[in-house]
Amino acid sequence: MHRRSVPRLRTLQTRSYAVSAPSRPPLSGLTAAARSRAEKISSEWQGTSATGGNTKNFIGGEFVESKASDWIDVVDPASQTLLTRVPETTGTEFDQAVSAASEAFKTWSRSTVLTRQRFVMELQHLLRKHEDAIASSIVLEQGKTYPDAKGDLLRGLQVVETCTGIPTALLGNHIEVTKDMDTSNRRLPLGVCASIAPFNFPAMIPLWSIPMAVATGNTLIVKPSERDPGAAMIIAELCQRAGLPPGVVNVVHGTVPTVNRICDDPLIKAISFVGGDRAGKHIYERGRKTGKRVQANLGAKNHAVVMPDANKNQALNSLLGAAFGAAGQRCMAISVAILVGNAREWLPELAERAKKLKVGQGFDKDADFGPVISPAAKSRIEGLIASAEEQGGKIVLDGRGHQVSGLPDGNWVGPTIIEATTDMRCYQEEIFGPALVVLTAETLDEALAIINSNRYGNGTAIFTQSGATARKFEVEVEVGQVGINVPIPVPLPMFSWSGNKASFLGDIPFYGSGGIDFYTQNKTTTALWKAEDAIGNKASVDMPTHH
Ligand code: NAD
Repeated sequence: MHRRSVPRLRTLQTRSYAVSAPSRPPLSGLTAAARSRAEKISSEWQGTSATGGNTKNFIGGEFVESKASDWIDVVDPASQTLLTRVPETTGTEFDQAVSAASEAFKTWSRSTVLTRQRFVMELQHLLRKHEDAIASSIVLEQGKTYPDAKGDLLRGLQVVETCTGIPTALLGNHIEVTKDMDTSNRRLPLGVCASIAPFNFPAMIPLWSIPMAVATGNTLIVKPSERDPGAAMIIAELCQRAGLPPGVVNVVHGTVPTVNRICDDPLIKAISFVGGDRAGKHIYERGRKTGKRVQANLGAKNHAVVMPDANKNQALNSLLGAAFGAAGQRCMAISVAILVGNAREWLPELAERAKKLKVGQGFDKDADFGPVISPAAKSRIEGLIASAEEQGGKIVLDGRGHQVSGLPDGNWVGPTIIEATTDMRCYQEEIFGPALVVLTAETLDEALAIINSNRYGNGTAIFTQSGATARKFEVEVEVGQVGINVPIPVPLPMFSWSGNKASFLGDIPFYGSGGIDFYTQNKTTTALWKAEDAIGNKASVDMPTHH
């Protein structure tokens, strides 16, 4: 298919994520457990490497080596060992991916809904079967612990499982609007769609889009995070093994130039973005300019309110898990605790418990959480902790300068607790690390006022034993996802994601019925077939006379 030349685009300045791997023999920096997993991944999967080779693009059903001149290093955040390199995909390769997706759309969009359902069922089976490979790739590239990496996949798998009900989800409406005249509607795919993912959930976020887009009859271009592309490549290979025709799912890598090509390409009809505010606003505005449908999940500052009547043990343990799990690099991590009234007396115990959390490499069975993603992230987090000190906050537990034995080059930040006020930078900015900001309030109303003045609206939680208190909180808090004695209230995919305020741009949310709406457009048909025009239903054996 002929593709027009893409004009040269003005790009935002690319951030430099690459960290030059220290000069030592390949893989020598990895722990033994990490090394054996890295070798297994490289030998078993076509699209990715964890032993220093290149990550490929997946275009038109082929894993292809890019001809890019710019490559980005992907390193183990626990040791800076080079695992793979991802290409800054060239314009020609990007056009090939869009052409492949456009071509595939012609037949995939007309495939039967049962064909698409069978693909989703097969994919869910293969994802479960290869859980170890996907989770291992996540541990190596992203740094989270192995059980947490399995959770990353599982939350994506739940979207896949929900999509096995696609025939029912796509049922249209039909009514006789007047005598012998019917109106019916069909839910039709949009065309070529794109999914742009962040580093913190390398399996879950691509799986928010792949099954939804494909089951509704679209084709897709996935742009994984350039920092941890491995899980998406394994998932792409599993799509192929599950029988998905070439070109229905494609993967291209890169940073701002690739993202801008997605925004500008007129053949791409919709973009699903998850990531930070800066990229999200840019993609939303640029994508909308070419008439695309865009859904963008952005940053967060999630508050947990601890009431004095809470079950103390449950509240403190929930805070620890939600603030420090995944090294605080979850968009639904609790990053602010508001201790109400006498609950402020629990702060020393919270700090004591947090101190006992073990930071370590993700395959270490005792590790509670791993390193943060990059040296740049580590210094940004440590800078925000320092700013709190300068602005009069109290560092109750200080995770700066944390070391893990045998892994001196890891991006380690230990559990950190900061007593602060709302005017401080550590409260105003998203820290995205294992640092919990603690505020105090006299009353629930005061806590609600703090939360409702915050610009973000991703998640919030309250810990209380009072139904009335919980009810008041649930009704009055202006945040899209509310937990009552539940610290990370991410809805399962029979619901849709419902972050709000500055945590979301767009009109139609991810997955659930929102996901079906996002990836489809309605067509209505109104048809008149007069019953009186029906010819007799009995065969005539008389000589036709045409009278
Ligand atoms: P990020 O915004 O740096 O990157 C996300 C994607 O955008 C990547 O694929 C990247 O290549 C691309 N990108 C980065 N900068 C860009 C730019 N200037 N122009 C165009 N594209 C750009 O995000 P991240 O650091 O990978 O992920 C962490 C962020 O994602 C946090 O802010 C977190 O809250 C957010 N997040 C939100 C949700 C949610 O559902 N609300 C879920 C996960 C992560």
